[in-house]
Amino acid sequence: MMAIISGRKLSKKIREDIKKDVSKLVSETAKIPHLVVVLVGDNPASQSYVKYKKRACKEVGIKSTVINEKESITEQELLTMINRLNDDESVHGILVQLPLPDHIDENKVIDTIKLQKDVDGFHPLNLGYMLLGRDGILPATPKGIITMLKSENINLEGKDALIIGRSNIVGKPLGTLLMKENATVTTAHSRTQNLKEKCLRSDVIVAAVGRPKLVTEDMVKPGAVVIDVGVNRVDNKLVGDVDYEAVKDKVSYITPVPGGVGPMTITSLLQNVVLCFKRIELT
Ligand code: NAP
Repeated sequence: MMAIISGRKLSKKIREDIKKDVSKLVSETAKIPHLVVVLVGDNPASQSYVKYKKRACKEVGIKSTVINEKESITEQELLTMINRLNDDESVHGILVQLPLPDHIDENKVIDTIKLQKDVDGFHPLNLGYMLLGRDGILPATPKGIITMLKSENINLEGKDALIIGRSNIVGKPLGTLLMKENATVTTAHSRTQNLKEKCLRSDVIVAAVGRPKLVTEDMVKPGAVVIDVGVNRVDNKLVGDVDYEAVKDKVSYITPVPGGVGPMTITSLLQNVVLCFKRIELT
């Protein structure tokens, strides 16, 4: 029996809980969790991601402020702004929407965000804590994927999991989180040989590449769990990295695109804002 893991439905449920949590925190502390999103330039994809994040914050009672900066902002100006937000006691989370223009060093920007306000979990120390299995802020997409798997009680222990893609924001951190769940993890990338063979022996496949129909029906073993992270625009429609229609009847669980990992990424971000708020205001 195949089941679709709807990130949209699961998000709705989790966001209701976040809303209750936020409301309780506001009455306890007389403060409102506040996320500041910094958007540089006018990349349409980034603009729409920021719009979704702002809308989601509103849905659960988190205050959000979007700072829109021109493409021409200098690296120093951006770092100065982040330092100001780091010191601003009314701000609990800082998110700089990536990618940044070429003249700005993303690493310097990420390193400058105060650890306690790093809601994206991209700061090297937060990633280090994750690697060591210590408490920290987890990157939103991998965190959302683990939440989806757990919501269906999918047993990962001893299972062969293949992650296709080794980015710092998805593939690499997800490998650590799946290993924590006792899966046996393989990470594939553009230099991997025999991808099909590796897919065919995997109980769980996570596709995070950005290439439509990278994972086809003949690459998936019957009963596998398939998580599609990819977001691609084909003929003006959003599709993932998995040939969904052909693969769906062969697997035990699959995530759709849109409505799968995407909403869960934003839900995990909301959870991270609340976590940062609690750490700042309640400890
Ligand atoms: P990325 O930085 O774009 O990197 C892509 C990865 O795919 C790299 O590791 C690359 O290998 C690998 N790759 C490229 N061609 C391949 C091939 N033919 N076979 C196997 N591996 C291949 O990755 P990303 O930022 O994680 O994004 C990946 C996709 O997920 C994109 O479509 C993005 O839009 C989407 N995404 C979605 C969400 C969401 O919330 N739904 C969040 C983040 C990203 P090398 O390392 O060797 O170059």
